[in-house]
Formats: sequence, structure tokens, C-alpha cells
Amino acid sequence: MNHSCEPNCQLEVVDTAEQPYLRVTVRAPRVQPSELLTIDYNAMEIDMTCPFDCQCGAVRCRGWVSGFSNLSRAEQEEYIDGGATGSPPLTGAVKTWAEEHGIV
Ligand SMILES: [Zn+2]
Repeated sequence: MNHSCEPNCQLEVVDTAEQPYLRVTVRAPRVQPSELLTIDYNAMEIDMTCPFDCQCGAVRCRGWVSGFSNLSRAEQEEYIDGGATGSPPLTGAVKTWAEEHGIV
């Protein structure tokens, strides 16, 4: 799945006693038929090994995408409770990192 600063999906790792799996949640009604499904990489990775200059075209595009730990504190706080930008709620390792750093 490609990245967007205003994603239409959320991807999370669900850790079960048997076997972890990936869950994709489509954030309807924003997805139209044949529309590309996107996720926010900043919500998925703490510190990306391959950061990139985002050209997603979103009104609130963050520009440089390099992982949650590299966002400003104000940007990190936008992810709390979905944030004003419609960012997905934090899950998994990023949520744990945010809790350990007093962000959530
Ligand atoms: Zn962007």
C-alpha cells in the first residue's frame, strides 16, 4: 500500500496468542471505487530506514516522511484520537513508543 498524509485506510498488526496478522480498516466513506488504498507510514513506523519526500497531493501533506519519532511534537499530537488531520489512531510499536515518550 502506498503512503498518503491523508490516508483512506489504516493498517495495524494484530498480535494474537496464535499468530499475528495484519488488519486493514477502510476509512469509509472517503474511498471511492477504483481509488488507490493508502496508509500513513508515519503512523506505522517509528524511524524509517528509507525516508522520502512525499508528493501525495494532500492539502496537509507533511512533505518529508521519515517516521513518527521524527515528527515535531505538534505533529505527533495530531495523531492522538485521530487528530484534526484525520490521521489514524496510533497502534502497535508506534503507540508504545508514543506512550514511552509521554505523547499519549
Ligand atoms: Zn504527503
